[in-house]
Amino acid sequence: MGIAMTIAAKLDEIRQRIAAAARGGGRAGDAVRLIAVSKTHGAEAIAAAIAAGQRLFGENRVQEAQAKFPALKAAHPEIELHLIGQLQSNKAREAVALAEAIHGLDRPSLARALAAEIARQGRAPQLFIQVNTGEEPQKGGVTLEAAEGFLSECRALGLTVSGLMCIPPENDEPALHFALLARMARRLGLSELSMGMSGDYEVAAKLGATYVRVGSAIFGARG
Ligand SMILES: *Cc1c(COP(=O)(O)O)cnc(C)c1O
Repeated sequence: MGIAMTIAAKLDEIRQRIAAAARGGGRAGDAVRLIAVSKTHGAEAIAAAIAAGQRLFGENRVQEAQAKFPALKAAHPEIELHLIGQLQSNKAREAVALAEAIHGLDRPSLARALAAEIARQGRAPQLFIQVNTGEEPQKGGVTLEAAEGFLSECRALGLTVSGLMCIPPENDEPALHFALLARMARRLGLSELSMGMSGDYEVAAKLGATYVRVGSAIFGARG
């Protein structure tokens, strides 16, 4: 199979698996949106995904997203870009200008930078607070205990927060982390949940994800 056929087939299979998993969790089959994480992959792979009906993409670096997505969005205005990685405050301007959603909101300095840019540009990407459910020092995110306080800080700055995001520790049972994140979102009255990657998106879809972020299962291993 050529690369385009492969990507189309993978997307089709993953969409079906997501719908089945969501139904398995007692949810609607279309309750979960698939973010195709295209980081490190080039125009050919992304074009194949677009041709297969994919509209929602994820990148984790602002600079890479800026090199790839303005041209793609000009050609396909229906495309949405979500920035899913850790975001430096000094990239807030580019991020707000380019992205439809930012999943790595995790500290007051970034919240302030985003609030200033959203006011300046009159453009408000959807925002997800990243929660470090495994309390791993190398990962971004607020602790579960700090999530409510940070949400209040964000709101005080005028930000609208849509939901929560997490990346479970590599060697932990992901279901535990997804369940914790879902419970916290319910408690805070937030409707969106960004959780689940190539290895665990079905678990996430079952446990309440509204967005799953899937890269290598669609595009193959990153170089
Ligand atoms: C790269 C990345 C993904 C996708 O990872 P895969 O395992 O390739 O599906 C999801 N979320 C974040 C935050 C990422 O950086």
